[in-house]
Formats: sequence, structure tokens, C-alpha cells
Amino acid sequence: MTHHAPPPPAAGCRETPVLKQRGQHEVFCGLTGIIWLHRKMQDAFFLVVGSRTCAHLLQSAAGVMIFAEPRFGTAILEETDLAGLADAQAELERDVDRLLARRTDIRQLFLVGSCPSEVIKLDLARAAEKLTARHAPKVRVLNYSGSGIETTFTEGEDACLASMVPALPETDKRQLLLVGALPDVVEDQALDLLGKMGIDDISVLPARHADSGLAVGPNTVFALTQPFLGGTLAALERRGARHLPAPFPFGEEGTTAWLQAVAREFGVDEARFDAVTGAPRARARKAVAKAATTLSGKSVFFFPDSQLEIPLARFLTRECGMEAVEVGAPYIHKSVVGPDLDLLSQGPTIAEGQDVELQLDRCRTARPDLTVCGLGLANPLEAEGLATKWAIELVFTPVHFYEQAGDLAALFSRPLHRRNALKLEAA
Ligand code: SF4
Repeated sequence: MTHHAPPPPAAGCRETPVLKQRGQHEVFCGLTGIIWLHRKMQDAFFLVVGSRTCAHLLQSAAGVMIFAEPRFGTAILEETDLAGLADAQAELERDVDRLLARRTDIRQLFLVGSCPSEVIKLDLARAAEKLTARHAPKVRVLNYSGSGIETTFTEGEDACLASMVPALPETDKRQLLLVGALPDVVEDQALDLLGKMGIDDISVLPARHADSGLAVGPNTVFALTQPFLGGTLAALERRGARHLPAPFPFGEEGTTAWLQAVAREFGVDEARFDAVTGAPRARARKAVAKAATTLSGKSVFFFPDSQLEIPLARFLTRECGMEAVEVGAPYIHKSVVGPDLDLLSQGPTIAEGQDVELQLDRCRTARPDLTVCGLGLANPLEAEGLATKWAIELVFTPVHFYEQAGDLAALFSRPLHRRNALKLEAA
């Protein structure tokens, strides 16, 4: 038997008072996004302007992937650069000139700021402007910050996409823009479903190639596929585009609601919608139900990390039968996650920001069956006997839309299986 999501709650969490916390927090920095963004944009290059620490972070996050022509690198700021700022600026420009002369495949170059470049106040915006003037029209040079000072790891993608928006050409075309970097196979599934509904004028930000014809204007409506794109949303609105608020496409229910928001906007009739979504919906329900047997009745606690927390809490409580104890998110933009909050039954503490020691105390008191958190907290919590799930895996694994709904649920059931197996061995 497959499990259907229950009807929407009479009272969701949109108006639940938010516990606001400002204190020490434990997260990855925005450079992490380069790992998935460089795979997506096939003629882009990401040049981190940072220290050896930044270079190490990128290398270890990228794991053992080997490229004939890598699409990211680090311009290392040496100690001496910290003293002579003017030299650092000129040196960076020379590095870029050399890189672009060697790599004629590069069409977009991102200068990515880091903690060190921010500390010494290197002006990457000015460098990008000068370099664009020198290398246009073949190469566009943009800049954004991936610095770990007060940013979380998913904000790197937001900053990157937002940096592209002002440079997009203007269009009056009525079109749908999908916003968020999804793995190609997942993006293709979404485009296929929308295409079958008769929605043809669809662009994606980020586009796979610089010359994709991506443009934006007052007749563009856009749907986010990731909840951490608040800055990109604001940048698109400044270009006159209109946001379609919807629950995020996680799980069968989230995917259906997301598609429905788009279908309504483009006048797709119900019969056609049902014909297109019927079979994949049934597959998604079946796949989720399999993992839900492990998850049902279990409690989950979210530390703020990826900004995916609220949509995932909605998925785990409504489709997998879990109970959310606390849902922490680094930021809560109701214009973005409001529709997911509407579907989340009242009960859990909704927390924004982090004071890690206080939150650890609440977590220890609650002793949830599963804790979703960053790498830095996972090991100590595991040592205390709590099962954890690393939030970062959620952005490295294809989890959106119908065909991935089962994999998404399995990401959460696996740590519980592992813990059960350990208990059995110990018994
Ligand atoms: Fe570390 Fe900052 Fe570099 Fe990120 S940007 S690796 S937090 S120094």
C-alpha cells in the first residue's frame, strides 16, 4: 500500500513564533558551491581569490575527481600581498589574462571572494569590470563572495546566480525560468514533465553554456528549485521578473505542488496535469513508502545549515510519518519557504540562526532518533549515541522531483538502519 500525504494542516507553521538565535555557528563556507556549480556550467571557470586554506577546502570537497581541464582554481594571496594591496590587484589581473590566453574554452569567469580577500578589501567588482572590458565579448568576468564570514555553504550558489542576473540581456518574451543548479538528469526530468504539459518556453539559471540565449524581463515568471536562493530572487525581481511561490519539489507531494503552481500560471488543465503526473506520482509514492517503514514514528531534529531544513521537515513529517522536534534554518524568508511552512503541522520549534551550545543542549534533551546537521557536529553527536545525517550530502545527491523521491527518503533511513545494525552487533 502506498502512503498519501495527509490533507494540509488546519494550522501550519507560517505564523509560529520563530526562535531567533545569534551566536557561534558551525557551517561550511560558500566556496563549497563551486563543486556543483562548475559541473553545471560547462564553459565557466571559478577562480577563488584566497589562501592555501581555501585551496585545500576546495580540493578536499571535490574529492578525487580528476579533470583534464579543471574548471576551478585558486589565486593564492601570499603574505606579501596582504601588505601591498595595489600589487595584489595587478597580479590578479595578470593571472586572469594568462589563464584566459591558455584556456580558450572559458566563456564565463567568476572571481570568487574569500575571507582573506575580504579582509584585505581586494576590490573584485572593479577587477571583474576591468577584465570584462578587456575580454568582452568572448568572456564575461563576474564576481561574488564565497567567504565563510557569516555565510553558509549554500549561499555561494545564491551569490553566484545573483551575480549573473544584472548581466543578462533583456527580453519581453513570456517565459518560465527555472532557478537553481540541479544535476542535468534531474533538470531534464523537470523539463520533460513541463514540456508534456505544453509549457515550451523554459530557460534555466544557471544555463549549461554561456551562449544559451538566457534573458530576463517583465514577462518572465520564475520558480526556484532550491530554497537558498533568496538573493537571486531579489535580483530577478529587480529585473521585473515575477516569482511563483510554491512548496519545493522534494517528495511526491512537494513535486506535485510545485508543478501545480507552474501549471496554474500557464493555464494547463487538470486532465492534462493528471495525465502527465499520474505515473511518476505513483512511482514516487511507492519508493517513498519503502523508506518510510523505517522512518515512520521516528523523531527528527534539524540544525541550521543548508536552508533546505523547512521543506525537508515538511517532506519527512507529511510523507514519511516522522515527527519534527526542532527545525532550525540559517535564515527564514517566508516569501521563499512560506508555502512549505503552511504545510508543516504546528508542533516543532522553528528556529532561525544558531547559538550552537544552546541548540546542542536542546538536542541532547530531546534525544531525537535522527539529527540533521553539519559535519562538525555529526561526530560528537554520534559519539553520544545519536544518529546523524550530514546536511551537505543533501546538496551533493540528486534529491529533487518524482524519480528521486525514494532516494531522498533513503538518505534519512540509512543512518537509522546503520544504527540498528550497530545495536544488533553490540547485543
Ligand atoms: Fe576558509 Fe574563508 Fe577560505 Fe572558506 S573562504 S576556506 S572559510 S578562509
